[in-house]
Amino acid sequence: MGELPRRNVLKFAGVAPAALGLGATLEAPLAAAGIAGMAVFLDAGHGNNSALSQQVPNGRGGTKDCNTSGAATNDGYPEHTFNWAVVGMIQDALNQSGVRTQLSRGDDSSAGPCIDARAAAANAMHPDAIVSIHADGGPPSGRGFHVNYSSPPLNDAQSGPALQLAHAIRDALVAAGYQPSTYVGSDGLYGRADLAGLNFAEYPAVLVELGNMRNADDAAQMESPDGRARYAAAVTNGITAFLNGKAPAG
Ligand code: ZN
Repeated sequence: MGELPRRNVLKFAGVAPAALGLGATLEAPLAAAGIAGMAVFLDAGHGNNSALSQQVPNGRGGTKDCNTSGAATNDGYPEHTFNWAVVGMIQDALNQSGVRTQLSRGDDSSAGPCIDARAAAANAMHPDAIVSIHADGGPPSGRGFHVNYSSPPLNDAQSGPALQLAHAIRDALVAAGYQPSTYVGSDGLYGRADLAGLNFAEYPAVLVELGNMRNADDAAQMESPDGRARYAAAVTNGITAFLNGKAPAG
C-alpha cells in the first residue's frame, strides 16, 4: 500500500515533467494507506449547453437556475470542458490511492443534472468529501484561484469539516505555486451563501474556482494539457491531505 502515493507522483511527473512546479508533487502526503476505502464525490461544474433556467431549490429557501452555461476563455475554451478534464485526472489519482469516487455527470457532451440534483447525489454517496471543480469568469485583470465554502453554515459538516477541506485545498494550491485570487475572497478562501451545491451539502464540501478564464495568464494554463495536469495534481494533494487528517493514526 505504501507504493500507491509514489505511483501518483510518477504519474503526474510523467504527464508534465517540465511544467510541474516543485511543490506540485513533492509535497504529496505519503501516508495514503489510511485513506483507502474513503469516498469522494467529484462534481465537474456545468455541462454542455447547460444554461438551463428551470428553477430549482437553492438550499436556503429560495430558488436558482438549474444550471448556468459557465465561463470560457477568450479563445472559446469552455469551462465545462476544463472542469471535466481536471476532474477526470483527480478521479484517476484518487482511485490509485484506493479512494472510491463518484462523478456528478457521466460525460462532457450533455448538460448533466441540475445543481440541486448534483447535491442530492453527493449526499446519497455519504462521502468523506465533496469537491466541485470550476473556473471563474472574472475581471480580466484579476487572476488566481479561490476555494468557496458555505457561509453561514447550515449544519455541522459545513461549520467545521468543510472549512478544513477548504484550507487543505487552498494550502495545496499555494504549495504548488498558484496565486490566491487577486479579485475575490481572502487568501484564496471565500465563504458564501449563494451556491446551492454547498448549501445542500451534508458532508464536507467545497467549490474550487481554479482560476480566472478571462485572465490571459490563467487561461493559458487552463488551455494547456500540462497546465490541467498541474491543477489536478494540486487539488488531489489537498483532498488527500484532508482525508489523511480524518484517517486513524498509523
Ligand atoms: Zn463555474
